[in-house]
Amino acid sequence: MNKNEIKIFCPATIANISCGFDVLGLALSSIGDEMIIRKVKKPGLRITRITGQELPREVTKNVAGVAGLAFMKASNYKEGFEIEIHKKIKAGSGIGSSAASAAGAVWGMNALLGNPFSEFELVQFAMKGEQLASGVAHADNVAPAIYGGFTLVRSYDPLDIVKINTPKELYASVIHPQIEVKTADSRKILKTSISLADGIKQWGNLGGLVAGLFMEDYDLIGRSLVDHIVEPIRSILIPGFDEVKKEALKTGALGCGISGSGPSIFALSKGRVVAQNVTDAMSKLYENIDLENDAYVTEINKEAIRNNA
Ligand code: ADP
Repeated sequence: MNKNEIKIFCPATIANISCGFDVLGLALSSIGDEMIIRKVKKPGLRITRITGQELPREVTKNVAGVAGLAFMKASNYKEGFEIEIHKKIKAGSGIGSSAASAAGAVWGMNALLGNPFSEFELVQFAMKGEQLASGVAHADNVAPAIYGGFTLVRSYDPLDIVKINTPKELYASVIHPQIEVKTADSRKILKTSISLADGIKQWGNLGGLVAGLFMEDYDLIGRSLVDHIVEPIRSILIPGFDEVKKEALKTGALGCGISGSGPSIFALSKGRVVAQNVTDAMSKLYENIDLENDAYVTEINKEAIRNNA
């Protein structure tokens, strides 16, 4: 590896985290893509290689390209970049496949230029990629990918991102049942208004979760991992969701919910042993109903995107 090239790990992310629809997210440690970003003399941006998945190499059709172009437009760098994407996160799994590519592209370019842009600015470039993937420039996956740990998008207009503490003993389980849920469909079925009663319950839990994360109060985290608004509707699209959730809680998880727009289901647990048991129990439940699934247990990723040389 020379200094004109960087190989990076781009983490998968869980958005929403039950009570924080469109505002909360966290980064995962052992699930992620690999990218290589290269500085080249020839001006412009090219995606030279993609492995692991069929995705467009045309820069305007790939989230990494769109985010990269936004970065280059804002920088005064006059030469070019090449991008290689080695996908491990399945697209449409609900664990931030598009966000990993968008965030990775701009993080890598920034590192190669000596970090002229802040994390906050990188999130804004990466959001352009997210706009291509889902039509909405959401930040709840790209923010944790770039900042690491847990993040809160306190406001979209103006954009305001808050990094939240990650309790030391917190582990995540992710189960990806092999069914397809289109992000567009899982957005379409949501209601556009909520009752005041549901709002009160939801912001009580959101405040409780943020406080619990800072205080490292695992019981408070568990009590707050409840979603009164989105989960009751979206879970209809995920076969076996109620049973898997019941199993996770029975096995000791602090909480369990839909990861992003699904179909992946996440659980948070205190300690690796409990998290492993929870993952096994959730995965086994799907096996019992003959639904193939990928199962992961992982630490929360406090480092965010990192050099993987
Ligand atoms: P996830 O829910 O896992 O984040 P999304 O549904 O947000 O996945 O994003 C996947 C969509 O983005 C797909 O339509 C895919 O074709 C498109 N896409 C474009 N470029 C990429 C990329 N580099 N990585 C992943 N998805 C990409």
